[in-house]
Amino acid sequence: MSRALPKFRLLRPESVEQALDALRATPGARLCAGGTDLIVNMRRGLVAAETLVDLSGIGDLKTIGMDESGLRIGAGVTLRDLADHAGIALSYRAISQASRAVAGPSHREAATIGGNLCQDTRCLYYNQSHWWRKSTDFCLKYRGDICHVAPRGKRCRAAFCGDLAPALMVYGAQVDIAGPKGIRRIALTDLYREDGTDYLTLGRDEIVIAVIVPPTDAASVYDKIRVRGAIDFPLAGVAVACLTTPDGAKQISIAVTGTNSRPVGIDVPPLQDREDPKAYFAALGKRMQKGVSPQRTTTIAPHYRRLSVAALAMRLARSLI
Ligand SMILES: Cc1cc2nc3c(=O)[nH]c(=O)nc-3n(C[C@H](O)[C@H](O)[C@H](O)COP(=O)(O)OP(=O)(O)OC[C@H]3O[C@@H](n4cnc5c(N)ncnc54)[C@H](O)[C@@H]3O)c2cc1C
Ligand code: SF4
Repeated sequence: MSRALPKFRLLRPESVEQALDALRATPGARLCAGGTDLIVNMRRGLVAAETLVDLSGIGDLKTIGMDESGLRIGAGVTLRDLADHAGIALSYRAISQASRAVAGPSHREAATIGGNLCQDTRCLYYNQSHWWRKSTDFCLKYRGDICHVAPRGKRCRAAFCGDLAPALMVYGAQVDIAGPKGIRRIALTDLYREDGTDYLTLGRDEIVIAVIVPPTDAASVYDKIRVRGAIDFPLAGVAVACLTTPDGAKQISIAVTGTNSRPVGIDVPPLQDREDPKAYFAALGKRMQKGVSPQRTTTIAPHYRRLSVAALAMRLARSLI
């Protein structure tokens, strides 16, 4: 049985201040940007919201600024506009590639970077219809008492699967967050926590308004492993950035999505000028395997995903050396 979209009230603020007022005045209201994650989840009965605060009418959230001080992307910028931006493709290739890797072209027309960063975590036992979940007595993440992935655990292991986060993290991106006390800026990595239910550190009365990326000379790349090549969430997605230092060393940054309840940055030492690349990449592969924790949240075995992350990271890093 498919489920009709429940009734809800739609508020259409024209400024961030109006959106904050709407959140304050309506406890339980949810933000909606492109709706490509939220509306699907509402239809499946995973989100109960009587009021949605639609961010799509706020012009200030839709701008991209790029100059010598770096890149500023409004949270309401669509993934289509991000993917089409020539300057981003040239200077921040991984961001461009990650934007293009999300869903299909019609999703990217509406889907925003803010929604991509804040999208819900995913699990085989959660992203199902209501009757399917009811037949398994629901689960810890929503309405149930047990986790079917790790039955002895008390924490949901659903995976964060957004493609943009790792591509931004390898550049040391930050996010601006508007709330009742004004605007605060945090590292993008601090937007997340390792908890599949409570995966964002964002308050219910806060809005991500922009992503800030510092200027860079680093080369970068993003790619993902997925079951269906045309449209699919990442089983694992890897972003790599590589900066050559004045002494000839390669400073490598790596971040991963799809394996944990948060996007994960992996600490990697630089590849020194005269170091043996073969030994370096073998060690990098081991580091990748240790750094991620895929669980039984997809139909693909965790061990396969762990090995895939390592293989993908080694291939991408080699391509930048
Ligand atoms: C068939 C299909 C395939 C998909 N494939 C992929 C994929 O390959 N990769 C991928 O990353 N995603 C995928 N998605 C998920 C989704 O399309 C994208 O993540 C998209 O970028 C979400 O953006 P949105 O603007 O539509 O978010 P929405 O659905 O509007 O919002 C998502 C969540 O973010 C919150 N939110 C939105 N904007 C803000 C903000 N500014 N501040 C705070 N919270 C906010 C909302 O309250 C909601 O909880 C797919 C979805 C579908 C239906
Ligand atoms: S990891 Fe466990 S609690 Fe979380 S969605 Fe999956 S089954 Fe539910």
